Amino acid sequence: MKLYNTLTHTKDEFKTYEPGKVRMYTCGPTVYHFAHIGNLRSYIMEDVLEKYLRYSGYDVKRVMNITDVGHLSSDADTGEDKMLKGAKREKKTVMEIAKFYTDAFFADCAKLNIKTPDVVEPATGCIPEFIEMVQGLIDKGYAYLSDGNVYFDTSKLDEYYVFNKHDAEDLAVGVREGVEEDKAKKNKTDFVLWFTKSKFEDQELKWESPWGIGYPGWHIECSAISLKHLGDRLDIHCGGIDNAFPHHTNEIAQSEAYIGHEWCGHWFHVLHLNTASGKMSKSSGEFLTMSLLESKGYDPMVYRLFCLQSHYRKSLVFSYEGLDNTKQSYEKLLARIATLDFEDASAIDEAAMGKLKSAFAEAMDNDLNTSLAITVIYDVLKENTNDRTKLALLSDFDKVLSLDLIEGAKAYNDAKNDAAGSDDAFVSEIEALIAERAEAKKARNYARADEIRAYLLSKGVVLTDTKEGTTYSFS
Ligand code: AMP
Ligand code: ZN
Repeated sequence: MKLYNTLTHTKDEFKTYEPGKVRMYTCGPTVYHFAHIGNLRSYIMEDVLEKYLRYSGYDVKRVMNITDVGHLSSDADTGEDKMLKGAKREKKTVMEIAKFYTDAFFADCAKLNIKTPDVVEPATGCIPEFIEMVQGLIDKGYAYLSDGNVYFDTSKLDEYYVFNKHDAEDLAVGVREGVEEDKAKKNKTDFVLWFTKSKFEDQELKWESPWGIGYPGWHIECSAISLKHLGDRLDIHCGGIDNAFPHHTNEIAQSEAYIGHEWCGHWFHVLHLNTASGKMSKSSGEFLTMSLLESKGYDPMVYRLFCLQSHYRKSLVFSYEGLDNTKQSYEKLLARIATLDFEDASAIDEAAMGKLKSAFAEAMDNDLNTSLAITVIYDVLKENTNDRTKLALLSDFDKVLSLDLIEGAKAYNDAKNDAAGSDDAFVSEIEALIAERAEAKKARNYARADEIRAYLLSKGVVLTDTKEGTTYSFS
């Protein structure tokens, strides 16, 4: 499988340290608010990657952290703690906020068929591991204490800007943008491993440490959690592209300094989902969440398909018009699958099966080309073969794409039958009321006859009395 690697800037042959085994790490959400659909784009594409690795026969162990402490407003260690900001906004404690938004995140994931990673670890559960790692970095001479905080000393590295060797100045933007320059740092790219500084006195969650009461920096949590559950060799690390710098750059710096050798060979980054006006935001403009889309009538599968239709390495612009087009495509696709015979007991057509499975794998093996893989679904429907083979292929691809293709098509058929059933019941009701009205007129009960006419009119049914009897039409 060829997969683009941010570390080498090329589509590399995906390799693992141990044959057949993948140790995969994903940066989890900062649980101070709902996830926006941009965050969810990253998790959808990472889910497809994990499922495709499993589909290809790998034994995958995937670990994700939950950031419930340490992530400041600016990724470069300045500003307020995002969790504290969330707690103040909602007048709750940090742990209440963390619990609420962690549950909300996994509820969104469930709707979008995103599998929960094998291990999910909240940062607040690993404080001893962070302290041990920070101490190790001090002992090895890679970290220093200054003005109360412990910093990583980037000048001790041969190379700090691992992702972009040619444009270090560009990558330093996040650091330069810091609202206030931290005078305690020795080098402008140094970053905080442990905070104790008095300016964070309102911090709700604080722990004892060898350097005083304080709390961990954001970057250390991913290095230590990955080390705890996946050991000192990681096969692939994922996140949105904004995580590449400074977060992942700092993770690599401290992990490799601590373990003393190369840590992770492959870095997978998902480009951003933006709005027409720019960056996706949780605080200004329309806050685009999965629940908002659902309240506007979009099935979560429509959003999943919207993401899969474009390549993870291209930024994607969200628009309702685009989503409407995907909604139509998804509904048409289900309607087409629904015409297949689910009871077909023909023998599997091995030739068609082999050919189409190869086409699917070829698309996915080429840097996870999900949009091309989706065109193979249409090739299956067009293929001159029996319905059993087509359904087997669709359900095979859906192990990776998770678009509810078979369940959705069956639900489409059920809804169609229900609608037809309720039509039949309505026609019987109209006919029974017309007969009752004829009897009422015969018995000179005109009040009841008028009542029936009025009732049917309220349901859109217009009665016309003729010599041959009463007929009806719909208004
Ligand atoms: P956060 O909750 O801010 O830690 O972000 C969770 C994940 O969403 C990270 O992997 C981010 O890189 C990713 N992310 C943030 N914004 C976007 C976006 N607009 N599009 C895609 N992924 C994003
Ligand atoms: Zn991380």
